[in-house]
This record gives sequence, structure tokens and C-alpha cells, in this order.
Amino acid sequence: MSAMPLPSDPNRIVDVSGAPGSVWTQRLLGPDAKRRRRTAMSALATGMMACCAAAMHVLALGGDLDLALVHWWSAFAVAGLAFALVLVRSGYSERFADPSLTAFQMQWSLTATAAAYLIAGELRALVLPVLVIILMFGIFGRDRQQTVSLMLYSMALYTLAVFGAAYLAAPRPSAGLVAAHLTIVLLSLMAGTLMCLQVQSIRARLRAQKRALEEALVRIRDLAMRDELTGLFNRRQMSELMELELSRSERSGRNLLLAQLDIDLFKSVNDRHGHSIGDQALKHFASVVGNELRSGDVFARWGGEEFVLLLSDTRLADASELLERLRCTLQQTPLVAGGEEIGLTASIGWTVHRRGETLQRCLERADQALYLAKREGRNRVVFAAPPVPQRRRRRAVPTAAADAETEQALP
Ligand code: GH3
Ligand code: MG
Ligand code: MG
Repeated sequence: MSAMPLPSDPNRIVDVSGAPGSVWTQRLLGPDAKRRRRTAMSALATGMMACCAAAMHVLALGGDLDLALVHWWSAFAVAGLAFALVLVRSGYSERFADPSLTAFQMQWSLTATAAAYLIAGELRALVLPVLVIILMFGIFGRDRQQTVSLMLYSMALYTLAVFGAAYLAAPRPSAGLVAAHLTIVLLSLMAGTLMCLQVQSIRARLRAQKRALEEALVRIRDLAMRDELTGLFNRRQMSELMELELSRSERSGRNLLLAQLDIDLFKSVNDRHGHSIGDQALKHFASVVGNELRSGDVFARWGGEEFVLLLSDTRLADASELLERLRCTLQQTPLVAGGEEIGLTASIGWTVHRRGETLQRCLERADQALYLAKREGRNRVVFAAPPVPQRRRRRAVPTAAADAETEQALP
């Protein structure tokens, strides 16, 4: 695991989602990336509605529309979206199911444009492109049902608006013209909604694929690090961890202890009970040993029925006690499979790392101790002391603290 790098520019801040944002963007749009995105979208919708209000005012000032009506319409249209913008920017909307308030803003805008259609007189055709733009915002909605409901709502609203506009027009348009208007408006609404649904489903598929990829990545990382049967670290991962711990212990001067554990006569477990019970026995062994360890101890499957245990910063006497306890617990905890109790024992060889020696050398010594444990009858713990450095032997200097501890720990 690596720590998150500090941003090089102090004015740029890295938020939880990983998206950067300058201090000014944060102040303006919100503290986290999601809120910033929602606020930007909401501000865009409000800004576009304000532009429509400005265009309506230009037409009204030119004498094409009733200025008082345009005033009221603008206040209504912009106020609703500005209200949504405040809710989104303040974070208040995050307590709702749809924190971006997309459905609300669309419903408001569609109502406002239907009202514009009603009061726009001869210029009502100008409302249609705005209608299409509003429908495009539906792409950001997630709920198909909501999108369809919105379409039905706007179809009903625009049917009223088309008939209302025909009723208010002087002279009254022909029935054919009204029908043509209605058809075009309803078709635009349906086509826009269908496009939204298409894009929504593509977005949903992409989201699902992204989730599946993330899960696969976690699984691949796990497979590369862990043994599939027992869930313990595998040999490759353990080798890396041991090298890492070794260099740490070289720097700090703290003890690093390595133990090799091998299940006794495991071949006969397979022979007598079958390979699948043998697999269960391996899992049982891993869990019995794992339960006895502290969180800092590293335990791995080295291969077959051999395991490696790394204890860092542990006194030799404590390690000796722990390994003896592991051996006893395993002996006293048989595997129960197929109504039968299958007793398991293990032999353990262990050693302490000597300053300057390679990991390979240290492991070999633990392996030699394991070999001795097997030779002496199995189901036992054997310690292999590291060789005393030449210089110390020649001068007959009293052993260092670690060596003194070594002697005490020897069984
Ligand atoms: P010793 O006490 O000397 O260690 O005897 P042993 O029978 O445990 O040792 P040996 O090396 O002869 O046999 C190890 C057996 O472990 C042989 C192999 O089939 C079995 N084994 C290795 N990996 C697995 C595994 O993943 N599942 C099962 N069921 N058996 C395995
Ligand atoms: Mg064995
Ligand atoms: Mg073996």
C-alpha cells in the first residue's frame, strides 16, 4: 500500500473521489467532486433558463410579446431552477433519493416552456429547440420509469398548451394547423425521451461494466497474493513480505524470527481419507494456526503441506512459547469430517535472523531445524541458533543480548 501523494500545487486539493479541483472551484461549486458536478449542471440549467428569459424580454421590448406576462413568466421559470441550484450547492439535496434534482428541474423547465408556448403567440415555434435541450438533461437521470412519467406529464401539458394557444390566438388557427402543431410537439417529446432512455441504458451498462472490472481487479490482486485453498498469503507474496521485513529489521535492529511448519504424515491423510478431506485438513490447519496468531504475525502457505510463519519484534522466549502452543492446540483440535475425527500434528523448525545474512540462508536454517524435528520423531518444535560471528568467538566476548536470549529460549 502506498500513501496518497501530496498535491504539488498548494492551491489544488485532491478530494476523496480523486478528482482535483482548485480552491476557487471548491468555493464556487462545492467541496467534493460529485457535488461540484451536480452544481455545475444545475447552474447550467438555471443559466440557460435565464438566457431564455432575456430573449423573451428582447421580444417583448420589440413589441412582439406582452412585457408584463414575460416578467411573470421569467420570475416563475428562473426562480424554480435557482431554488434547485441553492438546494444542490448547499448539499441539502443530498438527503433526497435524487440529489441532483434532475427530475424536478426537468419538470419545472417543461412546465415553464409549456407556459412560454402558451404566451409566445406567433413565435411559439421558438420554444421547440428549448424543449429538445431540456429533454437532453434527462440523460443524466437514472430512472427509466421517471423519464417515461416525465414524458407523459409533458405530453399532457403540451396538449393543453397547444389547445390553449389556439384558443388565445386571433384569428383562430384551423383544426389542421392545430393538429400539425400538436403532432410535431408530441413527436419531439417522444423522440427526445427515447434518445434519453437509450443513453441512460448505455450509461447503466457502462456503470455495471466498471463495477465488474473493479471487482475483477480486486479478485486478480487477491489471486496473485493468496493461496486459493487456505486464503493465506502464497509463496511469492510471502517472499516479498519477508524481504521487506528483513530490511526493516536490519534498520531497526529488532528481532526477525522465521518458522517452517510441516504437517506430519500428511500423505497418509490423503491416502486414508481422500484428497478432498486432505484439502479440508489443510484449511483446518491454516485456521487453527491463524487463530492463535497476533495481527502483526505473517503466516503463509509455502507449498503443499508446508507453511511459513514470520514473527517480527518478538522475544525468543515468547516465540518459543507461541510455537509450542500452536503445536499443542493443533494436536488437541482434530478435524471432524464425514463423522470422523482426523488428528493432525505438525513439526516446526524455527530460527532467528542474524544481521547481514540473506533470507535464503535464514530459511535454510529453519528448514534444517524442521528436518531435525522430523528425524527426532515429529510433532515437536526445534530451534536452530544462528552461527556466532567469527570475531566474537575469537575474542570470547560475552554474547550480545540477542544471543543471551537465544540460549534462554533453547529447549
Ligand atoms: P512428513 O511427516 O515427513 O512431512 O510426511 P508427509 O506425508 O507429510 O510428507 P510428504 O512430503 O511425503 O507428503 C506430502 C503430501 O502432501 C503429498 C501430497 O500429495 C500432499 N499434498 C500437497 N499439496 C496438497 C494439496 O493441496 N491438497 C492435498 N489434499 N494434498 C496435498
Ligand atoms: Mg509433511
Ligand atoms: Mg513436506
